[in-house]
Amino acid sequence: MKRAVAVLLVFVMLSSVVSPAMADKPKVTEQKPVKTIGFAKLKPVKPPKVIKPAKKLKPTEGDWKFVKDVMYDLTEKEKNRIINEAKKIYEGNSKLSKKEQTKILQTIAYYITIATESSGDVGILWSYDTHEDLSYTAGDNLNYVTSAHKNTLKSYATWADDHREEPTEFNVTQNRHSWVIGDIPVPGYDNYGPDSLELYLNRARNQFEQGNVEEAYVYIGKALHYIEDLGNPFHTSSVYGQAHHIGYESWVSNHWSELKSAMYVNEYYIITDPSEDAKNFAAFSHQYLQQICDIMNTPGWENNQQLNEQLKSITRTLISETMKYTMGMIVYATKFESPDTAGSNYVPIYDHQTSYVNINDVACSDQVLAIVEIDHTYPADLSKTAGLSC
Ligand SMILES: [Zn+2]
Repeated sequence: MKRAVAVLLVFVMLSSVVSPAMADKPKVTEQKPVKTIGFAKLKPVKPPKVIKPAKKLKPTEGDWKFVKDVMYDLTEKEKNRIINEAKKIYEGNSKLSKKEQTKILQTIAYYITIATESSGDVGILWSYDTHEDLSYTAGDNLNYVTSAHKNTLKSYATWADDHREEPTEFNVTQNRHSWVIGDIPVPGYDNYGPDSLELYLNRARNQFEQGNVEEAYVYIGKALHYIEDLGNPFHTSSVYGQAHHIGYESWVSNHWSELKSAMYVNEYYIITDPSEDAKNFAAFSHQYLQQICDIMNTPGWENNQQLNEQLKSITRTLISETMKYTMGMIVYATKFESPDTAGSNYVPIYDHQTSYVNINDVACSDQVLAIVEIDHTYPADLSKTAGLSC
């Protein structure tokens, strides 16, 4: 395998006598980026803040019917008991203890997860292929990720769906990759999405710092799944709308060829706090949940052209926004300042990580020799400026 490590070496050789004449005359070398094609054309923008508070969404009779249907191995009596209790919990008049209430909600979450999130089935939005497409394209859009690493992102795009017990440090039962808004989050199932994302992105950064580029991209690949899921409104509710979860996923899958061009964006979001930014994104996609459900609650919507166009427009918005966040997450994990290198004469740059060399404080003369040696596997976006002020 090609070693995708870039090494920047800066040697500073000083003459034994610093010429006073030179010291008086500040000399600044021309500052120009080595290469900025591609990535530099993309616009980094701040993610729009969602400030409108979400309204409470109560599961509909259709949702409860769906819940009843998916509890496949329970008796009719047991199903009815659970649903009646759950309805009381949602109404706020359950007589059960908090612990018992949680148990009821967990039972429901367990069956919904099996029905809507099992891997290998259509029931994953974005579906299996769609996750792969999103992760790969996010890397591709950025213009600086190597083919090998784009493939790594693709290979790990669905890892989280096959490892719902991860990250194990969160003690999850079944990680639904969600951030629940306007509904009741279920312990063990919900609200681990943003933190899972951040955990793996920071692990990627740690790997970069140790020079383990391949492992870094594996972690990025794992992480991206969580942000992609949050672009799906059905990952922002626990019971509400779940009756349409699979139906919407299938619809997206079936119309993917008409929708996928929404992935080609020319800007990405500046990510400063992955988990907080992910929650903000969940609030964004959540705004469309009721609209999607309303469309899908309309009898005959599948053959109604106007409703299909509406759904396409919403979905295209969601796909574009998902892409901008996904790209931003890659940038967050790959382009961060290296440890302070002031005074050192050896600065490693691992793959796409941006490093800064600070040699401002080194005494110098016109005999200072700075050698920048770059051993790169591709003509990358190295926004390096070699500035010397003496
Ligand atoms: Zn998922």
